[in-house]
Amino acid sequence: MLTQAHSEALFERAKKVLPGGVNSPVRAYRSVGGTPPFLVRGEGSHVWDEDGNEYVDFVGSWGPLILGHSHPAVLEAVGQAMQHGLSFGAPTAIEVDVAELIVSMVPNIDMVRMVNSGTEAVMSALRVARGVTGRDKIIKFEGCYHGHSDAMLVKAGSGALTGGAPDSKGVPSAVAADTLIAQYNDLNSVRELLEANPGQVAAIIVEPIAANMGVVPPEPGFLEGLRALCDAHGALLIFDEVITGFRLARGGAQEYFGVRADLVTFGKIIGGGMPVGAYAGKREIMEQVAPTGPIYQAGTLSGNPVAMAAGLTQLQILNAHPEIYTEIEHKAQHMADAMRQAAAASQVALQVNQCGALLCPYFTSEPVRCFADTQRSDLEKFRTYFWGMQDHHMYIAPSQYEATFVNASHTEEDIEAFCQAAAAVINAL
Ligand SMILES: *Cc1c(COP(=O)(O)O)cnc(C)c1O
Repeated sequence: MLTQAHSEALFERAKKVLPGGVNSPVRAYRSVGGTPPFLVRGEGSHVWDEDGNEYVDFVGSWGPLILGHSHPAVLEAVGQAMQHGLSFGAPTAIEVDVAELIVSMVPNIDMVRMVNSGTEAVMSALRVARGVTGRDKIIKFEGCYHGHSDAMLVKAGSGALTGGAPDSKGVPSAVAADTLIAQYNDLNSVRELLEANPGQVAAIIVEPIAANMGVVPPEPGFLEGLRALCDAHGALLIFDEVITGFRLARGGAQEYFGVRADLVTFGKIIGGGMPVGAYAGKREIMEQVAPTGPIYQAGTLSGNPVAMAAGLTQLQILNAHPEIYTEIEHKAQHMADAMRQAAAASQVALQVNQCGALLCPYFTSEPVRCFADTQRSDLEKFRTYFWGMQDHHMYIAPSQYEATFVNASHTEEDIEAFCQAAAAVINAL
């Protein structure tokens, strides 16, 4: 076990003044038990905690840091922007630069609206979908996460044809009733909902790779099928690309899978580590947003120049270096293969799902293609794996239902260290 005295003391203080000691639940390590390391510094692929432990980071702030921590060009741009003031709440040139770059990188979009988080991006995109279609219902998939707005905190629950039950106290049942739940990789479940609610579904929202129940890639034909169903039923297709955007390819999942969405939501990578989100679409749709259209959405700090500087710089680097995408995908493939080999050698039941620079081990012998499949993973084994990896100085997400994030800053040594650690930990299971 690594020394954690300083983190433990901080966690005790934190728990008195922050619910669970944290500002976002997963950070509290509830599903693996124990104390989260309090981090002090990150450089490239490595992070350091309050006790001086050094780790190879495979969380990357949950995805945003695709170039690694403290990238010199990003820090430089933020420092420059800061010199001129932190916020104006007025138009600035850098917002135009960012929007032009995003429109040039992402297929099928003409216009962007910047917001401050992925949650806000999704919440706003849903309003736009409802506003332009004049319909109220939304189809989402069990196990997909779209931020914490009321309408999205609903998983399955009752039968597939009825409205879902809220996932959280405080979500009005009237709001939850308009969120219909389908099964990932199951087009029939979507078709049934559309047919049972004719002319009422405003949009289908999907994570093009489900990366909040571990990692569940779309099967061939699934995203294409959603596109066709949306066209047949007059619903909009929303790709929630808060994780996949600028991670799978410069143009995100639309480019990677070759499927067109009507609205796309971004977060995480788009801000380069600063709090930024965005939603985007064709001109006809986006001009329905205020002030040109009747759908209201606003934000005091939206397009904040310091946040834009971080996002713009990271996106410019990604845009200029598309080879990054093949490199990070290869690293993730290599990690997944190493884990599978270790599992085969030691006869541990393991499925490693990997797509692009995202991967996730599930401790089960059955393939994992939807939420129900993810529930078969042996969580006790995951816990042992997690703490074993921490002992080897691998900083990975403390939950079975989060992705392992690979980024451009991971060196060959980092990847080898991960593979060796994983093999040792899996062997010991
Ligand atoms: C993280 C995430 C969100 C929410 O973004 P926040 O910035 O945490 O509000 C929404 N959708 C997906 C797919 C995410 O992974």
